[in-house]
Amino acid sequence: MEVPQDRTSNKHHVEMMTDERWQAIIHNDATYNQKFFYAVETTKIFCKPSCKSRVPKKENVRIFRTAEQALNENFRPCKRCKPTNENLPDCEWVAQVTEYIDKNFAEKLNLELLGLIAHGSPFHLHRTFKKIKGVTPAAYILHVRLDAAKNYLIGTNKSIADISICVGIPNSTYFITLFKNKFGYTPVQYRKLYQSCEKKEK
Ligand SMILES: [Zn+2]
Repeated sequence: MEVPQDRTSNKHHVEMMTDERWQAIIHNDATYNQKFFYAVETTKIFCKPSCKSRVPKKENVRIFRTAEQALNENFRPCKRCKPTNENLPDCEWVAQVTEYIDKNFAEKLNLELLGLIAHGSPFHLHRTFKKIKGVTPAAYILHVRLDAAKNYLIGTNKSIADISICVGIPNSTYFITLFKNKFGYTPVQYRKLYQSCEKKEK
């Protein structure tokens, strides 16, 4: 007879987080490499025990016996410790960071934070991102935010102050300046212009 599964989880590979394993993670203990891997739910990245990346919150960590098991559950190999012993191609790494920016542009973002999340140094991330995408991470973040602002201006009646918060630039004066620099109109002018174009078309 099969052992009844925890009904809150249909995950197949649930390994115990023991004190011993947690100590290995905290102390980057390489003697545990190949014995287990740990994945972090919040970043969807998995590492070797020896990885020097930021120590995750214990409750977000999942333990796997093999790298394949972690990959099968859609965790991605860490760029820094390379748990699958392959180099994650730069373009894939940058794609991960890009995806994170696209989803989290409303939050506070900077190079240090992105480096922590993507397990690379801010400097290396900056250089690689620019090489692949042709713009710096900061320029890309601004681009995503201002594009989102356009959509809010057109698609909603939110105030400019609300929109500036929604796109992660809570200082609305600064937001207006950035928007005007990029598009040549203030957000209010842009909204009016779009609305008058729509009327003409009707
Ligand atoms: Zn790692």
